[in-house]
Amino acid sequence: MRAIQLIEPGKWPELREVEDPTPSSGQVLLKVTAAGLCHSDIAVMDYYAQAADYPLPMTLGHECVGTIVDAGDGARPLVTIGESVMVYGPWGCGRCRMCAEGYENYCYNAAAWNITPPGLGHDGGCAEYMLVDRARYCIPIGDLDPVSAAPLTDAALTPYHALQHSRDKLNANSYAVVIGVGGLGHIAIQLIKHLTPATVIALDVSDAHLKLARQVGADFTFKSNQDAVQVVKDLTKGRGAEVVFDFVGIQDTIDLGAQMTKVRGDWNIVGVGGGKASAGFGVLPYECQVFSPYWGTRGDLYDVVALAQRGVIRIHTEQYSLDDGVEAYHRLHDGEVIGRAVLVP
Ligand code: NAD
Ligand code: ZN
Ligand code: ZN
Repeated sequence: MRAIQLIEPGKWPELREVEDPTPSSGQVLLKVTAAGLCHSDIAVMDYYAQAADYPLPMTLGHECVGTIVDAGDGARPLVTIGESVMVYGPWGCGRCRMCAEGYENYCYNAAAWNITPPGLGHDGGCAEYMLVDRARYCIPIGDLDPVSAAPLTDAALTPYHALQHSRDKLNANSYAVVIGVGGLGHIAIQLIKHLTPATVIALDVSDAHLKLARQVGADFTFKSNQDAVQVVKDLTKGRGAEVVFDFVGIQDTIDLGAQMTKVRGDWNIVGVGGGKASAGFGVLPYECQVFSPYWGTRGDLYDVVALAQRGVIRIHTEQYSLDDGVEAYHRLHDGEVIGRAVLVP
């Protein structure tokens, strides 16, 4: 089969011919129908593959949807051949206290036992077929379109999870700032608007992305630069926003978040841009809470699917074939993708 694989850290991935996978005990085999491209894949190409010591070559793609075509012993009674499913990505041991609470994304044993997500350690979904390690990661999508369902597994799940701990702060008098209106950000705006009565201020460096922000419901949009601090302060009577979601995470946006978050506000640093924040008395706003959420729970993903089935989340997608996948990654790197790029193998 054909797969887009990362071969060396620091190099662009390549489309290659690889062996067809076969499911062993407990595994499920999917014929991939859609795979979303996430900016984290760019981070993986840049430096994480080196730091994380991934076994290479590795097939990229951690936002996966497919049709179940086979399953190994143990998994077979748990799945239905022919069913259309999405893949829950942050795999865990399933047994530890964290997993027992549903937080497989923060499994105590995953790192020690080398349990890694597809596309971030294991072979992922940018291929014609993929293996899923356990049947429980296969979440039915019903009659959702695979292309718009794939980004739900991360681009929607991650902001949905982040919103859970900050939702109580977003009442009708509140402001939420969304920094970075890409794959995650354009869905975050929709989730905040649908699940809370807060006013949403979106910031981005690109006019096209700010236009998307308005299309998906942002109340105010501004260029992301140092002036944005005053703009947010003016809108919020000088107080700052109750909740800031940073979907970029570079030093520039971390510096903005530090100045825009209100006293007793929440600051969610979701982007993995490598920026660093300082903490200390008088450094952060009083009683401000800082979060660095990673992905979400399986329960969250079921909720996200339900929201999509009700038409609450509308994902803007650009569709690419496997042949054009590497080019799509270049567009993502250059900030040219509007919404989410999705491969259809
Ligand atoms: P994307 O490329 O689709 O979107 C990024 C957006 O940020 C673009 O609209 C771009 O124009 C904008 N941007 C760039 N520089 C900016 C700046 N200085 N100020 C404001 N906006 C700026 O990326 P994505 O796939 O949505 O991912 C967003 C970030 O979240 C990435 O860092 C990704 O690695 C990370 N991520 C984290 C998790 C997690 O679990 N924590 C999960 C998925 C993605
Ligand atoms: Zn991702
Ligand atoms: Zn666990």
